[in-house]
Amino acid sequence: MIWFTEYWTENVGLTVKADQVKKIRSKYQEILVLDTPQFGKMLILDGLVQTTEKDEFIYHEMLAHPALLMHPNPERVLVIGGGDGGTVREVLKHSSVKEVHLCEIDEEVILISEKYFPSISEKLRDPKVKIFIEDGNEFLQERQNYYDVIIMDSSDPVGASEVLFREEFYRKVKSSLRHDGIMVAQTESPVLQEEYFSKAYREIRKVFRNVGVYLAYIPTYPSGMWSFTIASDFIDITDTTRNIEKVKELKTKYFCDSIYACLFSLPRFVQDILKKS
Ligand code: SAM
Repeated sequence: MIWFTEYWTENVGLTVKADQVKKIRSKYQEILVLDTPQFGKMLILDGLVQTTEKDEFIYHEMLAHPALLMHPNPERVLVIGGGDGGTVREVLKHSSVKEVHLCEIDEEVILISEKYFPSISEKLRDPKVKIFIEDGNEFLQERQNYYDVIIMDSSDPVGASEVLFREEFYRKVKSSLRHDGIMVAQTESPVLQEEYFSKAYREIRKVFRNVGVYLAYIPTYPSGMWSFTIASDFIDITDTTRNIEKVKELKTKYFCDSIYACLFSLPRFVQDILKKS
């Protein structure tokens, strides 16, 4: 067994005792799989925890379901990043969805997930899913007015993911959406990554008319408090009564109708960060 630490800041981190299952260097990043008594298997990219068997459902459910419920009829969905497959699995719980495109830059993440995280990646080969091994930024260049929902399931805004947190990128997202499309992005921790969080919100607001932020509590992500930013030009994404009757059908473990109903209830300090963004 080894001790592994993800450094959340220069002086705070998450340390786990683990067996090292696999370690490779892909073209883009170091991919590490650990097996831990507490969190089950963990997927780590360049030293940063992406997902764990124990708490992955929280992140994937909260990333996928609000946007899919708020859209009147989501048929075409794009996931950018998300090579572990957890978001795709959640998207496919919505029966209206006919087509899911997954645009992941690093094929090795998909292959490792399929081998070591079958419960997360189980739907990646579903006939409705088409996988593109490409940079999300370049992928969007070629697609106009096509998707109902675009989900940004990217790594932290460093390296290959940095570009996915900029205004120019969100403009591409907007033009790839149909007029009533919705986008949602994971936007980091308001506690330990306030700068990234506030920048993502600011850049998204420059591009979309309606923007909302919500939170979830994810034990293995920095500080445990995680943010998501959802946006649309046409749809009032603050109406969390929309399709609320469908929530029960989704077979979720974290997301539920009462969380949906008060999705945008934010602690005051988070409201304050958004006000000054
Ligand atoms: N839930 C995770 C988190 O916040 O830690 C994100 C998980 S997912 C595994 C992130 C994926 O985004 C990685 O597999 C990475 O290879 C991919 N990625 C990074 N930059 C990308 C880009 N420019 N285009 C497409 N995928 C990208």
